[in-house]
Amino acid sequence: EAGKKEAKKDEASYDIGLQDTEKGVVTRFPPEPSGYLHIGHAKAALLNDYFAHKKYNGKLILRFDDTNPLKEKQEFEDAIVKDLELMGIKPDVCTHTSDYFQELYDECVKLIKSGGAYADNTPQEILRDERMKKIDSKCRGMSIEESLKHFEEMKEGTEEGQKWFIRAKINMQDLNGAMRDPVIYRCTPEPHHRTGSTWKCYPTYDFACPVVDAVEGVTHALRTTEYNDRDAQYQWFLKACGLRHVYNWNFARMAFVRTFLSKRKLTKIVDNGSVWGWDDPRMPTVRGIRRHGMTIPALQEFILQQGPSKSITLMDWTKFWATNKKFIDPVAARYTAIESKDKVSCTVAGAPAAPRSEMKDKHAKNSDLGKKKVVFSKNIILDQADAQSFAQDEEITLMNWGNAIVRNITHSLNPMGLLPGPPPKVTSLDLELHLQGDVKTTKKKVTWLSTDQELVPVKLHDFDYLLTKDKLEDDDDFEKFLNPNTEAVTECLADCNVADLKEDDIMQFDRKGFFRVDRAFKNGEAAAFFQIPTGKQNK
Ligand code: ATP
Ligand code: MG
Ligand code: MG
Repeated sequence: EAGKKEAKKDEASYDIGLQDTEKGVVTRFPPEPSGYLHIGHAKAALLNDYFAHKKYNGKLILRFDDTNPLKEKQEFEDAIVKDLELMGIKPDVCTHTSDYFQELYDECVKLIKSGGAYADNTPQEILRDERMKKIDSKCRGMSIEESLKHFEEMKEGTEEGQKWFIRAKINMQDLNGAMRDPVIYRCTPEPHHRTGSTWKCYPTYDFACPVVDAVEGVTHALRTTEYNDRDAQYQWFLKACGLRHVYNWNFARMAFVRTFLSKRKLTKIVDNGSVWGWDDPRMPTVRGIRRHGMTIPALQEFILQQGPSKSITLMDWTKFWATNKKFIDPVAARYTAIESKDKVSCTVAGAPAAPRSEMKDKHAKNSDLGKKKVVFSKNIILDQADAQSFAQDEEITLMNWGNAIVRNITHSLNPMGLLPGPPPKVTSLDLELHLQGDVKTTKKKVTWLSTDQELVPVKLHDFDYLLTKDKLEDDDDFEKFLNPNTEAVTECLADCNVADLKEDDIMQFDRKGFFRVDRAFKNGEAAAFFQIPTGKQNK
């Protein structure tokens, strides 16, 4: 309880300077249901949740920003709801921008009628050029009646209507490009995943966002800093439509090296098979990083620590994974695995004549995790790399057993004869227990496994970054920088206790690192373990 309170206090101490909070705080997280949540979205969601629920006693709205029928799917909505739940975020209400299509339509009509908007059909290229050069469109002076007539065509989705769009009439001479008559309605005759064919024209984000925020009672609209320039436009819409005031509050977009936080690019690599899916452990999605072994409390801490900063920094993964290690190290049970390839069979003189087993703590510093069976016997296996490092008569330590002296090393013959070849492999070893030896004086502490137990076949998967380049530039074709080798698999044999591990368990193989169980051992089929970076290897 006390610990919980302490953590609460800690969380509440991120200072963010929201204005006018005494009148109540209502925030919203507005994802477009066009993909799964990535860790950038996680930041936005956690910050909104933090302000609404932890810092102030307010309300959080989950609003699906579903104004583009071409990209949106129910599958994505369901996934987003689930991912928020996983992150411990409980929105007070869930809404859709599409719930307000009628209100938005009405506001647009009102805006046209008050002379605050007009219909335009300037081709895109020309429009962009005119906007850059501060040139009025030929339609800017169109009469209200004519604009309404075009809007009506758009609403019907007629062939003529599809050529038109509606622009707010703000100021083509403004130094801020966002004020130069932004588009607020477009005609898109495709059916919408929720409203079907009811609507043929849809509001743009620029227009829908302030209107729906005000209508839903949002007090503080959090957005990433690239929206700085659009805050003035947002405020203009509130005024022009005579709507409630909403504060804008901006925070830094999250960016990580060697990956991309962009739904468009992530969709592309899912669709082209570069990864297994949205939950691939290489994906920077909430599901991907969880499958890679990131824990939710660590994610929350990592994100909230950046809190309100407005400067965008390209982060490497060191701190991300180091934060996670802090959470998993005290609770990850310890086991042993030996590489199957070139494993070295040893005989241990002085070991019990018949195999003997002992129940030992799964974690030396956390007995709450329970016990595991450790088998001691004459026949053990070691990793090839360890065996190769041994010298005749060297005293080494068998971890969690004691010291032993290397008595006899048998090497394989050099396949090249007398010519120089690869270093010879150790094929077998004779060890002699020396339990009175001091484990503090040996240089080599090695893992070992008795073969007098049901060893469990496991595959250890280690993943690399998606990209070969730290930071993509805007004109880079990201597919050229996709890392062709992102997975290394090592086959091992693990101690008998590993057979009981379940999918999602997080554990450690001594001297091999932390892993998450992706597929438990079943029907004699090797279990799959995903290596969890710890920040050390700069991963
Ligand atoms: P993407 O480029 O991946 O499609 P988006 O901004 O278009 O991102 P939305 O679904 O509209 O995706 O985003 C929902 C919320 O998440 C928005 O408030 C947006 O500002 C925020 N968000 C998106 N990407 C990041 C990021 N990298 N860092 C912080 N917040 C982000
Ligand atoms: Mg968006
Ligand atoms: Mg986007």
